[in-house]
Amino acid sequence: MKVKLLRYTEDAELLCGTAALTSTKRGSPSQFFEEMDSEKAKRIIRRVTGYGHTSVIEHACFTFSIEGVSRAMTHQLIRHRIASYTQQSQRYVTYNTLENYVTPPSIRDNKEAKKLFDETLAKISEVYQKLLRMNIPKEDARFILPNAAKTNIIVTMNARELRHFFNLRCCMRAQWEIREVAIEMLRQVKKVAPALFENAGPSCVELGYCPEGKMKPPECNIEEIKKRFRNL
Ligand SMILES: Cc1cc2nc3c(=O)[nH]c(=O)nc-3n(C[C@H](O)[C@H](O)[C@H](O)COP(=O)(O)OP(=O)(O)OC[C@H]3O[C@@H](n4cnc5c(N)ncnc54)[C@H](O)[C@@H]3O)c2cc1C
Repeated sequence: MKVKLLRYTEDAELLCGTAALTSTKRGSPSQFFEEMDSEKAKRIIRRVTGYGHTSVIEHACFTFSIEGVSRAMTHQLIRHRIASYTQQSQRYVTYNTLENYVTPPSIRDNKEAKKLFDETLAKISEVYQKLLRMNIPKEDARFILPNAAKTNIIVTMNARELRHFFNLRCCMRAQWEIREVAIEMLRQVKKVAPALFENAGPSCVELGYCPEGKMKPPECNIEEIKKRFRNL
């Protein structure tokens, strides 16, 4: 799996600080932008988003390349609707090697399960190739492909949606692969826009408690989780 932040809004924090001032001050956005510096932006963003006025951070967008992940993962990712996606298509790209699937750690670490998994994937690959040789179109041959099939996707989200995505998907309740992707995305955006992603992470990091109620995983220690995400 590879996650790479490709591009993001230039001067993202200055821009969001400018947006925050625009709503409350007499004067123009261009004037606020010229007078903005990163310390001031950080203070304003903290104050305004603290009131729950989080639309101001929608002005900053982040584009990631997410590579070599399973279709099971991307199916969950694209449920997040306030985003733009382009995914490698199985209608156009032939899925033709046995290297192209993701093995979950629980299967990788269980010898018997791994053998069964690999044998089944090999059989699927063989049937898929056979269907193509029978002139079945790629868009139909792909019906045999599994959730484990590897894929690449490019995604753009604004900072508000990213923070929401991190709340849900950095959480221990999220599935392991999307959690790994989300944590890596957060690590990368924190580097380039720390003020926008201050205290970002699973819901418990922001709220101080777990909103999952009785679904809260027993291994979760909120203080440790907070520390981990603060130092990501
Ligand atoms: C642990 C976990 C388990 C899950 N299990 C399942 C499952 O079993 N089955 C399943 O189908 N899904 C499941 N999901 C997916 C989940 O239901 C959401 O579809 C997904 O997390 C996207 O989140 P979202 O809807 O909050 O937000 P996004 O699509 O990211 O949207 C962000 C926010 O915008 C607002 N919004 C967006 N669109 C609308 C709209 N049309 N109307 C009103 N407000 C809107 C909402 O406030 C929303 O929270 C699971 C997710 C998690 C994290």
